[in-house]
Amino acid sequence: MAWRARRILTAARRKARGYFQLTTRNGWRMSAADAYLRPATKRANVSVLTDTQVLRILFDGRQAIGVACRTGETTRVVKARRGVILSAGAIQSPQLLMLSGIGPAKHLQEHDVPVLIDRPSVGQNLQDHLQFRLIYRCAKAITTNDALRTLWGRAKLGLEWLLFRTGALAVGINQGGMFARLMANAKTPDIQFHVATLSADIAGGKVHDFPGFTLSVCQLRPESRGHIALASSDPMARPRIFANYLATATDRDYAVQSIGFARKLAGTPPLADLVEAEVTPSPGVRTEGEVLDFARRNGATIFHPSGTCRMGSDEDAVVDPRLRVRGVAGLWVVDCSIMPTLVSGNTNVPAMMIAEKAADMILEDNEEQHLGRTSWQAQPYRIAI
Ligand SMILES: Cc1cc2nc3c(=O)[nH]c(=O)nc-3n(C[C@H](O)[C@H](O)[C@H](O)COP(=O)(O)OP(=O)(O)OC[C@H]3O[C@@H](n4cnc5c(N)ncnc54)[C@H](O)[C@@H]3O)c2cc1C
Repeated sequence: MAWRARRILTAARRKARGYFQLTTRNGWRMSAADAYLRPATKRANVSVLTDTQVLRILFDGRQAIGVACRTGETTRVVKARRGVILSAGAIQSPQLLMLSGIGPAKHLQEHDVPVLIDRPSVGQNLQDHLQFRLIYRCAKAITTNDALRTLWGRAKLGLEWLLFRTGALAVGINQGGMFARLMANAKTPDIQFHVATLSADIAGGKVHDFPGFTLSVCQLRPESRGHIALASSDPMARPRIFANYLATATDRDYAVQSIGFARKLAGTPPLADLVEAEVTPSPGVRTEGEVLDFARRNGATIFHPSGTCRMGSDEDAVVDPRLRVRGVAGLWVVDCSIMPTLVSGNTNVPAMMIAEKAADMILEDNEEQHLGRTSWQAQPYRIAI
């Protein structure tokens, strides 16, 4: 495998080298709220309710007519003239559908939720990228760990960002990435690397007091499928997440082999010149069983949950190809939950692309109408929770 690692590194250097793309602008993280929502709030027909939780979607028969939501102690109804777009993400969009009576009838009945549409696929098909983080002690004190260790180092990072909008603070934690083909039969890249010039025991935790960097690797198209379930009919209760990582032999094989591949990369020049020692998993973790055990204990989400309100043309799909919830009118789901299969990469831009495409389709479907005209008003509303 060493020659393959060297070949891929060489190819990456010669051919595939490029910028690691980030959602940033002028050195600032650019969220969807910054890019899309804030400019739109200038419009007269946009109202944003913050610190407000949607409790359920309201229907008149099978027509979505609004939502019930809660701000602090106040529960109110937001009425929709044209329809409701549900974008609560892959964990909570299916939760809200289920709380609103669309989901597996048996499961809804277990929680005393009246069934509007028996749709067993709601909440199923959960997919995510499971990431394994390999941490290395760097032979040179050139990592972000080192910059952060001293007051002067931190000041330099801050000044560089303030004056030039460059440096470690102007980019994400992961400053590099790589897509590679691991399995011999892979026609397109099947694993992805995120490379961080820092290291910590847990992602986002305090950095180590030694020079360190992190190679994170994940399988791009996992076979394992989890699901989302209601914990209760209380809309304020968190749903239950059954991630079901590494459920198939293929995914376990990927875990073991991708960690092995990352190790080979770290042992291949020029990266090898910077490696003083492997910290995690640690050189003692060698056999297939030990590596799999490491994967099970240390594998963590890259926060790419998807697939739980699957789009499709079949009877079991949650939304149709125009993202309309099947079986009801005036309700769309627009977020990562609609992906039938997880994309082979990060999900933030795909989520925005889904939204852009959905906007076009919804406007096409309502040519003469303006969806933005949603009227909302506080109304006495009794919700059994
Ligand atoms: C820590 C972290 C780091 C990430 N880093 C990257 C990255 O570097 N690159 C990348 O490509 N992707 C990254 N992602 C993934 C990316 O952010 C998601 O794929 C993307 O945001 C998903 O979009 P979405 O619209 O499906 O869901 P979300 O962005 O989760 O949007 C759902 C929204 O609905 C709201 N909501 C949920 N339930 C309710 C309710 N009942 N009432 C009211 N509001 C509700 C939530 O508060 C949230 O604002 C990261 C995710 C996380 C969590």
